[in-house]
Amino acid sequence: MHNKNNIGDASIEEFQKYGHELIDWVAGYLKNIENYPVLPNIKPGDIKKRLPENPPEKGEPLSEILADIDKIVMPGMTHWQHPSFMAYFNSTASGAGILGEILSAAFNTNGMLWKSAPASNEIEEVTINWFRQLIGLPNYFWGIIYDTASVSSMHAIAAAREYNQNLQIRQKGMINKELPKLRLYASEQAHSSIDKAALTLGIGLEGIRKIPVDNEFKMIPEELEKAIREDKQNGWLPFCVTATIGTTSTTSIDPVELIAPICRKENIWLHVDAAHAGVIAMVPEMKFILKGVEQADSFVVNPHKWMFVPIDLSLLYTKHPKILKSAFSLVPEYLKTAEDDLVNNYMDYGIQLGRRFRSLKFWFVMRYFGKEGLIAVYREHLRLGKLFASWIDNDPNFERLAPVPFSTVCFRAVPTKLKTEEELNKFNERLINEINSTGKLFLSHTKLNGVFTIRLVVSGLRTTEKHVYAAWDVIRKTFDSLLKSYRN
Ligand SMILES: *Cc1c(COP(=O)(O)O)cnc(C)c1O
Repeated sequence: MHNKNNIGDASIEEFQKYGHELIDWVAGYLKNIENYPVLPNIKPGDIKKRLPENPPEKGEPLSEILADIDKIVMPGMTHWQHPSFMAYFNSTASGAGILGEILSAAFNTNGMLWKSAPASNEIEEVTINWFRQLIGLPNYFWGIIYDTASVSSMHAIAAAREYNQNLQIRQKGMINKELPKLRLYASEQAHSSIDKAALTLGIGLEGIRKIPVDNEFKMIPEELEKAIREDKQNGWLPFCVTATIGTTSTTSIDPVELIAPICRKENIWLHVDAAHAGVIAMVPEMKFILKGVEQADSFVVNPHKWMFVPIDLSLLYTKHPKILKSAFSLVPEYLKTAEDDLVNNYMDYGIQLGRRFRSLKFWFVMRYFGKEGLIAVYREHLRLGKLFASWIDNDPNFERLAPVPFSTVCFRAVPTKLKTEEELNKFNERLINEINSTGKLFLSHTKLNGVFTIRLVVSGLRTTEKHVYAAWDVIRKTFDSLLKSYRN
């Protein structure tokens, strides 16, 4: 059935046969996901070794290509779809999302302009608007889909720079001698993507000032005020503050309602990074997490994390689409269209020209779960996170290291026979390595005030109470056996 002449695409019959087989393979994968070790037991280079060094001379049949999924790909998989993946922040793909992803590859439109992909363009606008309503953002927020939160934040910070029109960044760039030194603020706990945006935009690492946090890892507004005052006296131009709702290490929530008035008073752009946790504002009793966001200038959230949309899909909302557009819009003659004044040509609002039909999978997921379905999953995740935290709190061998506003628990083991912080750090590092090498569970770590911290996150679509119990069991058993063997 393979096209032997190697000219032309797979025949429709070939496509259909292997398409069905592949869907069956995916269904089997998801059905048996728990049988795989969450982390593969391999070394760097093990997958490369299985691949030929040179590209194929002749075409190969789809049957052979697909057979290599089991042989070559599977041994090197960290299974993000596994219910015992409790590391980093989850990104799980739902069935509806996977189907949407397949369809967007099949259509393969390029949504640079309304005209180049009207359905993609309008479904993007509508789904962004739906999501805005789901989390209760005011309707003056305009939105756009990018690939990741890093890219969303980079665009937001570029808009913040453009907001001060006197700087003439668009015209003169950053190499203008009269340009004051620009200052960006974020808490010590902010995500590294904010630093990367500063690198990209010519702000530089020295242009970022990290604001201290309180004992719950939240930005201290008085420290922000003090820093701005000091910087202004020293010739800096404060232009942007990033607050985080759900920081990466501990999911702490910066007090946006106290930070926003400081930004307004100083006319500084306020960007809010809620990449992981923003979706939780859908839950009525969690609405408070967005307190103050109505005063922000931009806001980012990732449906590809805790909303079961396959990676990648990030949403950026802003009150000032015109400023974002003025930072990025350049329309060459060959891309001018008659509808330019009536539609969002999304290429005008960012670096990329070509864009995939990402909104399709987003639309599928929102329709499949509905608001009620999502809220039910979120409530269960929040409950399980608190349940796990209560086990940590009640076990004298363990200690919790941060509050649990969502379902991420920061903890460490504190065996009584270890006395120094250094010994404890070493023990906990060995503990997490041992846990992860069982293949039964995947946890990640961070450092909080120099303390080696283990994180357990419950935000995977397939994670249930049974898996959280099993995780606790693995943690305690590994702790016991490590302690027995431990001579430091
Ligand atoms: C995950 C995360 C990011 C980065 O997200 P990407 O989409 O991977 O770029 C940024 N900020 C926060 C708070 C995050 O949780």
